[in-house]
Amino acid sequence: MAYLNDNYLKLKAGYLFPEIGRRVKAFCDGNAVAAQRLIRCGIGDVTEPLPAAVTAALHKAVAEMGVRATFKGYGPEQGYEWLRAAIAQHDFRDKGLDVADDEIFVSDGSKCDCGNILDILGHKNKLAISDPVYPVYVDTNVMAGHTGEANEAGAYGKIVYLPCRPSNGFIPEPPKKHVDVIYLCSPNNPTGAAATREQLQAWVKYALEHKAVILFDAAYEAYISEPDIPHSIYEIPGARECAIEFRSFSKNGGFTGTRCALTVVPKSLNAQTKSGELKPLHSLWLRRTTTKFNGVSYIIQRAAEALYSDDGKAQVRGLIEHYMGNAKVLRTGARKAGLKVFGGINAPYIWVRTPKGVTSWQAFDKVLNDANVVITPGSGFGSKGEGYFRISAFNSRANAEEVSRRLQELKW
Ligand SMILES: *Cc1c(COP(=O)(O)O)cnc(C)c1O
Repeated sequence: MAYLNDNYLKLKAGYLFPEIGRRVKAFCDGNAVAAQRLIRCGIGDVTEPLPAAVTAALHKAVAEMGVRATFKGYGPEQGYEWLRAAIAQHDFRDKGLDVADDEIFVSDGSKCDCGNILDILGHKNKLAISDPVYPVYVDTNVMAGHTGEANEAGAYGKIVYLPCRPSNGFIPEPPKKHVDVIYLCSPNNPTGAAATREQLQAWVKYALEHKAVILFDAAYEAYISEPDIPHSIYEIPGARECAIEFRSFSKNGGFTGTRCALTVVPKSLNAQTKSGELKPLHSLWLRRTTTKFNGVSYIIQRAAEALYSDDGKAQVRGLIEHYMGNAKVLRTGARKAGLKVFGGINAPYIWVRTPKGVTSWQAFDKVLNDANVVITPGSGFGSKGEGYFRISAFNSRANAEEVSRRLQELKW
């Protein structure tokens, strides 16, 4: 008899979104009329179509694939050079950041990369993870056997949880104790908070002192509206020696269904072998990528490249302005409804305090039943998310305005 990976059995039953799906289905099955009014502000998925520059590039690339002379088979596993160069130039070097083309690895998603990165890290690392958090960071470590069992509150043994609260602006401060690997997500899903330069400087300082690696998830970088908020961890001196950055075209270019992302692994980033020798992680990630991945499709890489054209950039701006316009409408609506509101300034998520004595799931049920709006209960993102819920700004403007109205009519 073959053995399975027992670590999977430690995962808390009922990943957040299936449970939301079950409750929404039960509600819709019992209320055909209310189901017609349902507005989904739950899952973090874009709603607006791909930019015209992207669809034009897709059509062109498809045509190339249909002609012998321009047909492409396997491409470089780590991405075509023209895309890596465009990314390094536009996202980093044009902004004064020192990132080389061959430090960019093109992939099929940041979610995948956040999980896959564990392949090149050892099993004895002490992990620091924010609470609340994007569940992928925790669950992939559970699967890899890096944690103990979950307790009643859903917290796993061996993880150092970093509480995010109003008092720290929902950005955790470095722990007093030693950790080796740190997950940071800014702008943040689910809280909508964005780390200031000082907060990131404190983390880079800590990582350099502790020879730790920061895994920096910048999936929402394009949503930053305040001028002083860093867009990349590499804006902080020393980060090239301690940080990997994940970026994605999902939330800026609307690529959630198209699939393309990138990871930056600086060649100056080292980690230690069992015997304490320093080695660059870049060569391990290159090896991992070329061994386990066969690259993103040529067609999709051409589509991603189009996001960096003048038209593409303007169209991405338009998408961000659309969603952030929604965020403003939702923030204002929730505040007028008497709720305490965070986020929604540098990220497309509004993080709302539930009224006194109301749990996250009670708020979810209330908003579903009385306002016919799907939100996400904060407790699904970690124990410190209890007492909050997340409203996503990924929607049409009409829906955002309607949700704002319904929140104000809600009697708690
Ligand atoms: C949406 C999202 C991503 C992007 O994931 P993809 O796999 O690239 O679609 C990454 N991190 C966070 C926190 C996200 O919310």
